Amino acid sequence: MKITSAESFVLDVPIGSEIADSMQFVTRLEFAGLTIRTDAGIDGTGYTVTVGAGGRVIQTAIDTLYIDDLIGKDPRNVREIWQELYFGKAHWIGRAGATTMAQAAVDIALWDIIAKAADLPLWQALGGARQADIPIYNTHAGWLNYSIDQLTDEARQLVDQGYTALKMKVGLKDSKEDRRRVAAVRKSIGDRILLMVDANQKWDLMQACEAARLIEEFDLSWLEEPLHPDDIRSHRILNEHTSIPIALGEHVYTTHAFRDYIEQRAVDLIQVDVCRVGGITPWLEVAAMANAFNIRVCPHAGDLMQVHQHMVKAIPNHWLLEVIPIWEKGPFKHQIRLEDGKCVSPEAPGASTDFTAEAFEKYRVS
Ligand code: MG
Repeated sequence: MKITSAESFVLDVPIGSEIADSMQFVTRLEFAGLTIRTDAGIDGTGYTVTVGAGGRVIQTAIDTLYIDDLIGKDPRNVREIWQELYFGKAHWIGRAGATTMAQAAVDIALWDIIAKAADLPLWQALGGARQADIPIYNTHAGWLNYSIDQLTDEARQLVDQGYTALKMKVGLKDSKEDRRRVAAVRKSIGDRILLMVDANQKWDLMQACEAARLIEEFDLSWLEEPLHPDDIRSHRILNEHTSIPIALGEHVYTTHAFRDYIEQRAVDLIQVDVCRVGGITPWLEVAAMANAFNIRVCPHAGDLMQVHQHMVKAIPNHWLLEVIPIWEKGPFKHQIRLEDGKCVSPEAPGASTDFTAEAFEKYRVS
C-alpha cells in the first residue's frame, strides 16, 4: 500500500453553548487535520482540536512540514514514519506545541488507514484489552461560568441520567469561593458519586497548596492541572503536601516529560492526549510506561473522545474516559455513543475520525 496524496483542512464548528474554565472561554472548536489517500482505495482522516484559534498554524505545519514526506510511503510502517517526521523538517522549530499537534493529526490518519485496512475498529487493530463498554466521567456539569445553582442542578441531572463520576472547574481568584462551589456540588450529589476538580494551571505553588487544603475534605478523586505543566518540581512539592491525587497530561507533549513526572512522583494519574502528544504512536508508549509504574490513564478529551474511546480499550490500565457531550449531533460519521453513564464500544472500522460530508462542507473554512 502506498500513500498517493494528502489534503489538509480546518473546520470551524460552533458548540452551541458557552463554556469556561480558569483559562478559556469557549464558543467554537477548530478541527485542524488532513485526509490521506492510498493506492488501495482506503482514506484515513486525522485531526487535532483547538478552542477557536491556531487551526491555520497547525494546517500550515501539516502542509509545509509533513505532507511531502508522506507521499509514496506505506502507511502500515507508521512507527517508522513517526520517527522520520519527528526528526525531520519540524525538529528545529518544533518538539512541542503546534508542530506536535500537526504530527498527531498525521499519525491518527495513518492508524485510521491501518484499522480500516484490517476492517477492524482501531481498538481491536491495536490489540483489544477490554471488550466491555467504557467507564466515563462527565465534565459538562462544572464550568466556571456556571452559578452555584446551575452547578448543582446540572450535577443532579447528570446523576439522574446514570453518570457516576463528574468533574468541575476550580481556579477562581478566591479559593474560598472554589471551596463553596465544591462543597455545594458534593452536597447535592452525595458521597457515592466520584467528583474531580480541574484548575487548568491557574495557580502558583502557594495558592495550589492553600486551595488543595481548603477542598481536601470533599473526597475528591483527583486535582487536575493545578500548576504550569512544565513545572514538575512544584507538582512534586504539592503532591507531598496534599492527599488529593494529582492528575495532568493534556499539556504534556513528550514521552520524556511524562517519564520525568512519573519518576519524580509529581503525578498520580496520567491524562495523556492523543492530539497533543503527537498521535497514537507515542500515546501507546506513555500508557505502557504508566502501566509499568502502576499508574492509571484517564485521557483528556482533546479529540472530543472519538479516538480515545478506542485507545482506552487497547490498554489494561485505563480508568475513566473524559466525556464532554456539547452537541446533540456532532460533525462525525461515527459519533461516540453515551448510554447509561458509559461509552458504548465503537464497532465501525477505523479510528472514528471521519466527518460527515455535510458537516465537512458546512464548517470547512480552509
Ligand atoms: Mg483539564
